Amino acid sequence: MAEPDQDSNKERLELALEAAGLDLWENDLVGGDVTRKATKVFAELGYSEDESSVYVDDIYKIIHPDDIPVVKTAVEQHLNGASAQYRCEFRIRAKSGTWVWYANYGKVMDRDGENRGQRFIGVTFNIDDRKRKENELELINRKLTEQNALLENMNALLQSLATSDPLTGVANRRKLMEIGANEVQRAIRFEYPLALLIVDIDLFKQVNDTWGHMIGDQVICVIAETCVQGVRSNIDIVGRIGGEEFAVILPQTDYALAHRLAERLCQAVEALQITVSDTVKLACTISIGIAALSDTCNSLKQLLIDADKALYSAKDAGRNCVRGCQP
Ligand code: GH3
Ligand code: MG
Ligand code: MG
Repeated sequence: MAEPDQDSNKERLELALEAAGLDLWENDLVGGDVTRKATKVFAELGYSEDESSVYVDDIYKIIHPDDIPVVKTAVEQHLNGASAQYRCEFRIRAKSGTWVWYANYGKVMDRDGENRGQRFIGVTFNIDDRKRKENELELINRKLTEQNALLENMNALLQSLATSDPLTGVANRRKLMEIGANEVQRAIRFEYPLALLIVDIDLFKQVNDTWGHMIGDQVICVIAETCVQGVRSNIDIVGRIGGEEFAVILPQTDYALAHRLAERLCQAVEALQITVSDTVKLACTISIGIAALSDTCNSLKQLLIDADKALYSAKDAGRNCVRGCQP
């Protein structure tokens, strides 16, 4: 018969276990028996006593397949002394078929000199509420991350819509002016050369009148692309500043260099054969006005005025040519 003191300790333990929602189990590591079975968990999961006794002996039958290796590793690590406590979280299948989260916490008692224990005691407890909240939180976080990425993409798209010309994809007038003003300021501060080109398609009205507006648009796109291909990427900026008119900002470029580049652009456009239909190819030319920073031309506004004047000279000179006033 148990001592009265042992009885009260047992009562105290049972009360504490019940209050904490813990189901105590104990294995005799020497004899290999389960000396105390965790039965509350099975009742909680809706199993009858008969079913419980089967699953107590083979709990892996109703542990989630993904969690079996987790549990086995945690047990193994603790039994061989690699971990100070046995802890793991896993799902058990309830009688109804749903998965319910539980945790195990245990310890091997009375280890000998070779780290072999006599008894393995532990508790199993329901952590389903916490796990569900964690999963919900994770889901919310994942959704937030996705939405943030979407927002970033939309912002980038908006930014590009606000700064690029919808027809050609090059910088729009506003963006070109903004970049141009910055580049001019920097060139003046560091005493670098800078040149600006205004490129205008020759007799473009005729293109529209002959081939229609759609073909006209196509020609504008091809010329824009030819300008982009003809300048340094990431350094020079091509922008559409009017219907069939582009400006090119050329940082670190003096008048002579800008002139050679402008002539190359004229030649590249002249060599184009723009497909209009299966049988017709269209040729067109451009005229270019150049301005470069100098003592008298020391702002973006003045560069635009001077380049525009030079463009008029190019048109007067018969088109398909480059003009500018050398500083
Ligand atoms: P020049 O050699 O003197 O520059 O002659 P031009 O015919 O090119 O010049 P003008 O300024 O008389 O005509 C420009 C034409 O460009 C008139 C306008 O209808 C056309 N245009 C302007 N914007 C667009 C556009 O976005 N698409 C098309 N297809 N045509 C445009
Ligand atoms: Mg024109
Ligand atoms: Mg024009």
